[in-house]
Amino acid sequence: MKKLTILGSTGSIGVSTLDVVAAQPDMFKVVALTAGNNLELLKKQIETFRPELVSVLSAESAKALGRMLTGKKPQIMHGVEGMIAAATASETTMVVAAIVGAAGLVPTTAAIMAGKDVALANKETLVTAGHLVMDMVRKKGVKLYPVDSEHCAVFQSMVGHRNEDIARVILTASGGPFLKWGKEQLKVATVKDALNHPNWSMGKKITVDSATMMNKGLEVIEARWLFDIPVERIGVNIHPQSIIHSMVEYIDGSVIAQLGVPDMKGPIAYALTYPARVPSGVRPLDLTTLSGLTFFNPDTDRFPALKLAYQAANAGESMPAVMNAANEVAVDAFLNGKIGFMAIPESIEKVMNLHQAHSVSSIDEVLAADLWGRAKAREVLGVQQ
Ligand code: NDP
Repeated sequence: MKKLTILGSTGSIGVSTLDVVAAQPDMFKVVALTAGNNLELLKKQIETFRPELVSVLSAESAKALGRMLTGKKPQIMHGVEGMIAAATASETTMVVAAIVGAAGLVPTTAAIMAGKDVALANKETLVTAGHLVMDMVRKKGVKLYPVDSEHCAVFQSMVGHRNEDIARVILTASGGPFLKWGKEQLKVATVKDALNHPNWSMGKKITVDSATMMNKGLEVIEARWLFDIPVERIGVNIHPQSIIHSMVEYIDGSVIAQLGVPDMKGPIAYALTYPARVPSGVRPLDLTTLSGLTFFNPDTDRFPALKLAYQAANAGESMPAVMNAANEVAVDAFLNGKIGFMAIPESIEKVMNLHQAHSVSSIDEVLAADLWGRAKAREVLGVQQ
């Protein structure tokens, strides 16, 4: 039986993970859950899955949760300390890292250092600190299973093959809600437009990242670390139907792809049960019902965020953490109606131009680069928080 901590259990990935867990009660036990502010949902999850430890963002939320619960209560913690306690709980054997943003970095690395296997949804962990995290994974001998559907697809397409035989990794991208929008239209895109993703139901931040295509850029950097493939051999194909979740091209010309109905329960189940496969609740794929599968190159003129991510990956060192921080600040400002849609990539570019990449040799140094990026992005955008 796998004993799980779910970091970010109240989010889109967290909820889907608990759906997978509920469908296989003999395979999993929930040891600990962490949430941000959604206490109502966390309360329901506690009543259903009976974890021993839970953590929320603030001391006030912890007190409020305590008052909301009746009967036997779990230990309730808060803040970074609470997330680390959940990530390193002695009974836990696997941690599902599903907090959004760079906030996921510290608890995820704490889990690795405590020797836990990790099912990794939080892409910002590898984007900001890929070399350090992969070093920890190797030193601790833990397993890191990708949850991101593209990386799960690449992982599945690599099983049984040699890394040196890979010619290219090709990540697919739906193109998001603005696939066919012109530059002028993009300038006036609203939050509602950006959150209207055609294929995937996800948290707000990643949905906006999909609309700017920064999400694909973050995934390129994540793939670089997960699979130890140079960035120049990681390509992106727009594939609006989101049926092929990504592919690996080998030196003999063969391309191996993974297909499925777009539903995160599939990659989550695979990460939780690898190498076994279990019914995940994903609808079977019937290719005969599709009118066609199409592929084309991304347009980095309309979606410059993808180009910026490649630039950050090539600059390396502190640049990806700074880029990620600037993106988080800009997406937040956009979601709060403070800036327009195109100000997201424009401000990220400005922040990157102001940054002199420097080496980062510890998580603390990554966090310092993250803080620098946030402060600079606020300055550039003229926003407070
Ligand atoms: P959501 O916004 O839906 O959920 C985020 C979770 O993190 C919630 O539980 C939230 O708590 C918690 N949280 C938010 N901020 C903080 C913080 N500062 N400290 C601690 N906890 C916090 O995100 P998603 O589930 O969509 O995404 C999670 C991660 O997985 C992201 O990195 C995303 O890029 C990645 N991912 C997501 C996919 C998807 O389909 N959703 C696909 C592939 C990757 P609360 O809601 O209680 O405030």
